[in-house]
Amino acid sequence: MTALVRLLLLDVDGTLIEPRGAGRVALRSAMLEVYGQTGPIDDHDFRGKTDPWIVRDLLRCCAWADEEIDARLHEVWEPYLRHLDAALETAVTRPTPCRGVPELLRRLSGDARYELALLTGNVEEGATRKLRAAGISHRFDVGAFGSDSECRADLPPIAVARAARRTGLSLRAEDAIVVGDTPEDVLCARANGSRVVAVATGGFSADDLRSHDPDRVLDDLSDSDSVLEALDDVATGARRVR
Ligand SMILES: [Mg+2]
Repeated sequence: MTALVRLLLLDVDGTLIEPRGAGRVALRSAMLEVYGQTGPIDDHDFRGKTDPWIVRDLLRCCAWADEEIDARLHEVWEPYLRHLDAALETAVTRPTPCRGVPELLRRLSGDARYELALLTGNVEEGATRKLRAAGISHRFDVGAFGSDSECRADLPPIAVARAARRTGLSLRAEDAIVVGDTPEDVLCARANGSRVVAVATGGFSADDLRSHDPDRVLDDLSDSDSVLEALDDVATGARRVR
């Protein structure tokens, strides 16, 4: 009998990497080029949101109508990626992997029980470039992104379908485990019947995350043995929220 393969849907900012402001710097410059305004971008909470959702939130703060926002939204990503490249080459805004992540990815990649995919609000090319700058992009070749949908809850089925196509495995959203650092990660998992491990490395505390009822909460991903044990518990349905 073949063991069931679990699909891990991994968030990027605050989960795999510490973003260190590169996306914000790049989006500010891109929005100025395309819309001439950024809204309250310095204080805006980006966590858990998709890139197009962030742009919409910021422009709504300046009384832009959705039709006006939508008319130019597709123009944002070329300058965004151009400015992102510059920010990723700047030491102060270059992302770094979260503690323990390179070791965890190395172990997961060699573990036949798991397949890995990205599930992130970043536009696809933005995610790829951030992960490359942090030195961990080689661990991923499939995912769902902010460029697929503005709504995070739409992303798990897209990631599952792509992973199934690539691996030839029968994968279902109900068997996938979302790993993310925000209440939005928990909500998008729940909306699709997926399981979810919340990790308190993106600014939300373990208590904040626990109040959204994930299957497990971890303080961080620094101890691969503990993370693998937690994933195994969640995969086998042992529900233990602490
Ligand atoms: Mg995140």
